[in-house]
Amino acid sequence: MTDRAELPPIPPSRQVVTAIPGPRSLALAERRAAVVAAGVSSAVPVFLERGHGAIVVDVDGNRFIDLGSGIGVTTIGHTDDAVVAAASEQLRRLTHGMFTISAYESYVRVAELLAEHTPGDHAKKSVLLNSGAEAVENAVKIARKHTGRSAIAVLEHAYHGRTNLTMAMTYKAMPYKAGFGPFAPGIHHVPGSYPFRDGLSGADAAARTISHLEKAIGASDLAAVVAEPIQGEGGFIVPAEGYLAAIQDWCTANGVVFVADEIQSGMARTGRLFASEHLGLVPDVVLTAKGIAGGLPLAAVTGRAEIMDAAHPGGLGGTFAGNPVAAAAAVAVFAEIERRDLLAEGRRIEATLRPALLDLRSRHPVIGDVRGLGAMLAIELVHPGTLDPDPAALASVVRFALEHGVLVLTAGTYGNVLRFLPSLATTDEQLLDAVGVLDEAFAAL
Ligand SMILES: *Cc1c(COP(=O)(O)O)cnc(C)c1O
Repeated sequence: MTDRAELPPIPPSRQVVTAIPGPRSLALAERRAAVVAAGVSSAVPVFLERGHGAIVVDVDGNRFIDLGSGIGVTTIGHTDDAVVAAASEQLRRLTHGMFTISAYESYVRVAELLAEHTPGDHAKKSVLLNSGAEAVENAVKIARKHTGRSAIAVLEHAYHGRTNLTMAMTYKAMPYKAGFGPFAPGIHHVPGSYPFRDGLSGADAAARTISHLEKAIGASDLAAVVAEPIQGEGGFIVPAEGYLAAIQDWCTANGVVFVADEIQSGMARTGRLFASEHLGLVPDVVLTAKGIAGGLPLAAVTGRAEIMDAAHPGGLGGTFAGNPVAAAAAVAVFAEIERRDLLAEGRRIEATLRPALLDLRSRHPVIGDVRGLGAMLAIELVHPGTLDPDPAALASVVRFALEHGVLVLTAGTYGNVLRFLPSLATTDEQLLDAVGVLDEAFAAL
């Protein structure tokens, strides 16, 4: 049993009762500065104490509507009752087995659920891991072993992680790469599709990408193209229609493994279980992490059985990978998505939030673009009438929102994108209340 029964319920509304940050957060920040490495920075200056559903509470008792969900991790809601119950029960039974030594059922169950629910009805197999970056790393290992080729292509504006290999695959130098090289070799960045900025149709953007793949890399050396169906850190960039389907077709025709990095866009984030479904994709390999276990660390590589089985026994794994508590939480997440029809909740959030954001754009010309799918929406800020990014306006808006009890995240290669990743437990009332705060924030610019 959890001890939440003994904790007072969290009211479902925002309430700011101290300066932001409050005195307790400030005291913790001082302790932190002495012992936590400076390289680990936090976007928000408050320390959290609790959370439930769409609300987080800081150590000073301030309540925030959380529109970021820890970057789309608590998609199902903070401390979701079913996830807490499943993880607590598993904690008491078995907390570690090390799957590569002694197996347990929840790992197998997660692999069954992924085989059933990722796009396509071909035979699929999975490997479970701890983090998104580790999933990306393993996808690269598997694709290389399967194809006997070494080159990997990624798109401009991509984000794939912070390990040495995934830093090489991530686009943005500051803060992710600057000074941390040299990076793993064999990674090629190719142009992608960013309709707001390049104005290209899906077909024209795909032709440009394919030309790079063929001319600068060469299909016969290329093991995999790794792409986010909707680019996350890059700024919630939805590619032009048909773009990724054309890239996938080219991969299939050339024996290249097409890997969809659904770490941010997957697991019911966009009103479908995977964003690939919106784009007509059936990727050879799908990567999941962030939202898969309701806040516990878990990631997966799921792909065509013949690709996944290319790696020899002992070639994949890790001490904590596929931990039984995290796996039990993931089983609960899949069950709750079905039981509460959370895909419909993603569509509801889009139906409420998108018109509200378009209305903001009609009144605040600094908002150049409104885009995204489901509960993965964003607005891009520019100097009115231009494509020049306005990161300063974004910083003011984020600050104002936080001081008024709304937690929003930024994104974008140019640091000028406000991204919305509300949990699927967020009510329309909470969404519209938060947009009202943003309206004031834009008016105050
Ligand atoms: C967050 C993210 C990663 C890295 O995941 P970590 O768990 O932070 O290692 C990789 N790809 C995408 C698309 C992500 O959003």
